[in-house]
Amino acid sequence: MLALRGKRHPKQANSSLGLCGAELPSCVFDHVTLLLIYCTLTGLVVGSFLNVVIYRVPRHQSIVRPRSACPHCQHPIAGRDNIPVISWILLRGRCRNCRSPISMRYPLVELATGVLFALTTWRVGMHLELVAYLILVAALVALALIDLEHLLLPLVIVYPTLIAVAGWLLISAAHYGQWHRLGLASLYAFAWFVVFFMLNFFSPRALGFGDVRLSPVLGLALGWFGLGVVFIGFFASNLLGAVVGLSLSASKKRTRD
Ligand SMILES: [Zn+2]
Repeated sequence: MLALRGKRHPKQANSSLGLCGAELPSCVFDHVTLLLIYCTLTGLVVGSFLNVVIYRVPRHQSIVRPRSACPHCQHPIAGRDNIPVISWILLRGRCRNCRSPISMRYPLVELATGVLFALTTWRVGMHLELVAYLILVAALVALALIDLEHLLLPLVIVYPTLIAVAGWLLISAAHYGQWHRLGLASLYAFAWFVVFFMLNFFSPRALGFGDVRLSPVLGLALGWFGLGVVFIGFFASNLLGAVVGLSLSASKKRTRD
């Protein structure tokens, strides 16, 4: 049987997988599968929106208007050509109007967001904090690609993400009575901020201040799952950052804010 992971909340102690009564195992499968399908499809659509965010936010353009258009002929993209991943495949990666190539980055961002939404749903489970983690995943996809291209982490993404993640974890803590868990997560968030602040202070070229601003939300989100996850996350993120940073600096000279 497919089972969602994630810690069970006290109020769900008597329920099977925290979804519904243990005497109804068949409905668990349905709920889990439906949630996974729903979140994966949502991830694909969110990924399509993230493509707009990744292109427009660093250029200080509105993410609402005008509607998406072909960068070559400026022809507005019709709804039928805006279906995540599928439209790109059907159009064979070209604009319907001028046949100019459309970057493979667009379907890849959509696909990656869909997969990450599925994995997050599987890991966190059907709990209120799932919303916090899906918001965080979406923000991190956008921030990673903007950082790769422009070497910046826009504040208009970082601060709303921090507020949204903290807000949903607060709602979850209040609903399930897990104030202790939220308190510890807040403590780890503060610790991460201090550590990243010191890293930036002593080595500003290796770690920009944008990373310092982002650190509390990562500490909070990882801290919710306990100290072990905080340590794994810390070393994994620094290792990944070092590998990507060294690869980029090997290809071109770069400086950070
Ligand atoms: Zn075109």
